[in-house]
Amino acid sequence: TTNALMRARVAPLGARHILILAEDHTHAQRVEEVRRDFVANVSHELKTPVGGIALLAEAILDARDDPEAVSRFAARIQVESTRLTRLVKEIVDLSRLQAADTLHEPQLVGIPMVVAEAVDMVRVAAEARQIALEPVADERAFVFGDADLLATAVANLVSNAVNYSEPGTRVAVAARRVGDTVEITVSDQGQGIPATEQDRIFERFYRVDAARSRATGGTGLGLAIVKHVCATHGGDVSVWSEEGHGSTFTMRLPAASGRTAADPDRHAVG
Ligand code: ADP
Repeated sequence: TTNALMRARVAPLGARHILILAEDHTHAQRVEEVRRDFVANVSHELKTPVGGIALLAEAILDARDDPEAVSRFAARIQVESTRLTRLVKEIVDLSRLQAADTLHEPQLVGIPMVVAEAVDMVRVAAEARQIALEPVADERAFVFGDADLLATAVANLVSNAVNYSEPGTRVAVAARRVGDTVEITVSDQGQGIPATEQDRIFERFYRVDAARSRATGGTGLGLAIVKHVCATHGGDVSVWSEEGHGSTFTMRLPAASGRTAADPDRHAVG
């Protein structure tokens, strides 16, 4: 029936139109496939912590006479619930980003502020793992966009850098303006990412080492969110990594001049 429909639609058109309609059709099919995959992945990912919580609750009921065991299981329920909350928040964030190709009301955003906020979000985790965070930001780096989304994206990169590194190492965060582009790099001295995996890590729910990701409270969505945030800002994200030596993630975003509509003569150049 789809073919019949296609033929009916293309009949009065020329060859170029036929091609465009066929491309539209496969694009729509691909969008539908991606959506279906996402729903399947989401239900699978939600079932794991929910199932874990149910088992732990059962274990508590069975261990009522053993207060030490009860508090151990309760603590694990707490960990699983925190992960579940984060997972739901990231699923919602990602769905919103996927639904919108462009930003609603882009604002002039100073990148030094974004970097400071992102580093703040990860500071406690970094201290707990004895990892030194070293942020440097160029005062002339501005973009048009959404400050919260940008801070979330940078925080995701910094959080990964901290989680996939050993204690005593350093994580550098640098933002600079290079011509018409703002570059934000996050470099770690961690375990690195095998070359064959470097494309795939930006896919939703893809993890190189699922056990390690789970142990650090990972959801597998962090980099997919970074990728979408960059795309909605007209930029992109890439990775350079050497196994055993570390990784550098680079977000590249179109720079804004730093001049605001309310204050057109002022160049906010440091
Ligand atoms: P997760 O929540 O699992 O960290 P992400 O989407 O943020 O999900 O990252 C996907 C996978 O990419 C991770 O599970 C990990 O295997 C790998 N990865 C991401 N960042 C780094 C890094 N800085 N060093 C090593 N591996 C990383």
